[in-house]
Amino acid sequence: MRGEFDGLAAVVTGGASGIGLATALHLAERGARVACLDLRPGELPEPLIGITADVSDDATVRAGIAAAAERLGGIDILVNNAGIGAIGTVESNPDDEWHRVLDVNVVGLVRVSRAALPHLRRSAHPAIVNTCSIAAHAGLPDRALYSASKGAVQALTAAMAADHVREGIRVCCVNPGTADTPWVRRLLDQAADPAAELAALKTRQPTGRLVSAEEVAHAIAYLASPLAGATTGTVLSVDGGMHGLRLRPP
Ligand code: NAD
Repeated sequence: MRGEFDGLAAVVTGGASGIGLATALHLAERGARVACLDLRPGELPEPLIGITADVSDDATVRAGIAAAAERLGGIDILVNNAGIGAIGTVESNPDDEWHRVLDVNVVGLVRVSRAALPHLRRSAHPAIVNTCSIAAHAGLPDRALYSASKGAVQALTAAMAADHVREGIRVCCVNPGTADTPWVRRLLDQAADPAAELAALKTRQPTGRLVSAEEVAHAIAYLASPLAGATTGTVLSVDGGMHGLRLRPP
């Protein structure tokens, strides 16, 4: 697979941590020039380029995408990965929390895609991959807002794939299960009994373990690559069998 991104340029939102960072590194190792758009890009490993942008702020998104296109010499691949979590039910999350999370997870993806599409149209191998979640379909308890946001991401993936298929722009998404990232580690740290919570998260997935960020990155990279040229509007589950095996937790 080495080198399948030679000559291609990729933008990864939320590329400074977890799944986004693993994806950016994976794409770069296989030949892509990669820019990470992130609230806090910080010090990124070589050769990744960090660009500060907030996907909930249209001005920084447009400036960030323009800067990425200039520094990379175009954009062939967009990975819409930036996202935030939310715990709660329809009763416990107030309206402003709904607006805040949907503005990042859903409208953020729209803003970045809108800014990047003119650049993708100039590519010979344009692709968008969205990081969705099993929450889009699994009926997870205490995750109403997060699930709604990821349900919208999955629906948007299909709608965008339909809108842009005749232009040759492919749009797919990955649905990770619980992945071992700084985000999940932060959640575990806040749990009353982190060890018990980690065990529960592992047993929820039929493989009995968390997904690694690199496993999600490999799936994103496949969908983004010219090797997946016949694949669009597709959801790829990377969830330890949660969806494919239709198993319920014990
Ligand atoms: P993470 O917190 O480790 O990384 C997220 C990155 O996004 C951070 O670098 C953060 O600064 C950036 N970010 C957050 N808000 C932003 C904004 N408004 N603008 C720009 N950048 C922003 O999280 P992760 O676990 O790697 O999650 C990445 C994606 O994967 C998210 O969309 C999440 O919903 C999805 N996901 C994660 C899991 C999991 O178990 N970790 C499971 C399913 C889906």
